[in-house]
Amino acid sequence: MIKNVSVIGAGTMGNGIAHVFAQNGFAVTLIDVSASQLEKALANIGKNFDRQIAKGSISEEQKTSALNNISTATDVATGVNAANLVVEAATENTNLKLEIFKQIDTHAPEGCILASNTSSISITKIAAVTKRPDMVIGMHFMNPVPVMKLVEIINGYATKKEVTKTISDLSKQLGKIPCTVNDYPGFIANRILMPMINEAIYSLYEGVAGVEEIDTVMKLGMAHPMGPLQLADFIGLDVCLSILKVLQDGFGNPKYAPCPLLVNMVMAGKHGAKNGEGFYKYSAGSKDIIVSDAFKN
Ligand code: NAD
Repeated sequence: MIKNVSVIGAGTMGNGIAHVFAQNGFAVTLIDVSASQLEKALANIGKNFDRQIAKGSISEEQKTSALNNISTATDVATGVNAANLVVEAATENTNLKLEIFKQIDTHAPEGCILASNTSSISITKIAAVTKRPDMVIGMHFMNPVPVMKLVEIINGYATKKEVTKTISDLSKQLGKIPCTVNDYPGFIANRILMPMINEAIYSLYEGVAGVEEIDTVMKLGMAHPMGPLQLADFIGLDVCLSILKVLQDGFGNPKYAPCPLLVNMVMAGKHGAKNGEGFYKYSAGSKDIIVSDAFKN
């Protein structure tokens, strides 16, 4: 029975994951190496609950009780020692995740399920550094976590059926819709999404159309809520590049090679919405969609 959930990483995804578990009555320990990041995350979670109150989907009392369910820690060892489930949502870096999983495996109780929210790193590889590979699984939430319904569950090579069922049932308990896939590069979500984003960037690079035209065709023509270039900005262009490299390395197929324009933009520090500029420009508090100067006609 899962009651205590430790979430590692208090960034974009970690604070959303902590939010939904706390809202659904779980005791959450949110862990980050950065104390200031933990403070920011708690403030952010509070704001997101306020949005839900404004929409009438939760009450003030529910917000208070959910916030009371969250405690914080700056080290993994103490943060996971009472966990029934750990959900790792730290920075997308293979070596970092392997180190974190070795630590979790040492300090989490026997029987604790170890999940990763990774977008693309092999669950089988992560599981192999632990002494409980059958208890390791991918639990891939979508951004923003409180809003998006899907949880992509990824079975590693050794994941036990009972663990998959527990995580699938748990996702439903959180009001999400689980979908189980196997552990191959990019799983399903990013294996299909990233080539589409890459092709949109190639279309821009080759001068087939401009930023707004590409996004408008996909929004109005395919009923996508946002165009692929804007979506890439929201995911983070650095993240898109690293996922494409995982696909390219994992399949050895040149069709996944990242567009040189994407590589250049990441080298130039244009990482998308999180640092103010990608295909579009972002300024705090503004909801206007402004094409970056580099792509204006
Ligand atoms: P982020 O950069 O916003 O947050 C990562 C956090 O991890 C930071 O606060 C950092 O301080 C913390 N961290 C780094 N090393 C740590 C350690 N050793 N121990 C504890 N905390 C540590 O990243 P994010 O966008 O939230 O992504 C987190 C994970 O979720 C990644 O694996 C990413 O691929 C995945 N993901 C991201 C999205 C998205 O849209 N951003 C969507 C689905 C999945």
